[in-house]
Amino acid sequence: MKIVLHICCGICAAGVVQTLQDEGHEVIGFFYNPNIHPQEEYAKRLEVARTVSDKLDFPLNEAPYAPDEWLKATAAMQNEPEGGRRCEICYRIRLQETYRYLIKCGADAFTTTLTVSPHKPAAIVNTAGREICGDTFLQRDFKKKEGFKKAMQQARDWDLYRQDYCGCLYSIRDK
Ligand code: SF4
Repeated sequence: MKIVLHICCGICAAGVVQTLQDEGHEVIGFFYNPNIHPQEEYAKRLEVARTVSDKLDFPLNEAPYAPDEWLKATAAMQNEPEGGRRCEICYRIRLQETYRYLIKCGADAFTTTLTVSPHKPAAIVNTAGREICGDTFLQRDFKKKEGFKKAMQQARDWDLYRQDYCGCLYSIRDK
């Protein structure tokens, strides 16, 4: 299957892309993360995603960095804790754009690296994906079968930059 994979960062991609490729899928990476703050951090994470794309030999499509809409959409939820309503909106915004990209490139399915993180509940991410397009969203929980551990090992082996907060300015405040 040709799958558009939303990539939240290169480290998560290092674990997930390999899994999908081993299953015989063709992966098209899609980097869309307007949540990441500040821009210097965005650039670092994008650079790691490019490195992983080179190492695992899959195309990486990069959407422009456009944080303003994201900030507007989440402004009323800035005091939510990580894992709360703000995060649900954040997943949805990124998955919606990934779905738009699927339509554009004619892939069979779309999914996301987000569920590889132990901090991202697969049920909430998968519900958002299903509600955007149940026919084409590939529901997964990539943290299963030691997915997160494998991604971390790959990051160490390749000496990749590892961020210490989720991404948005609120997660910097709360870390
Ligand atoms: S904590 Fe992470 S998932 Fe939640 S809103 Fe911020 S960047 Fe998005």
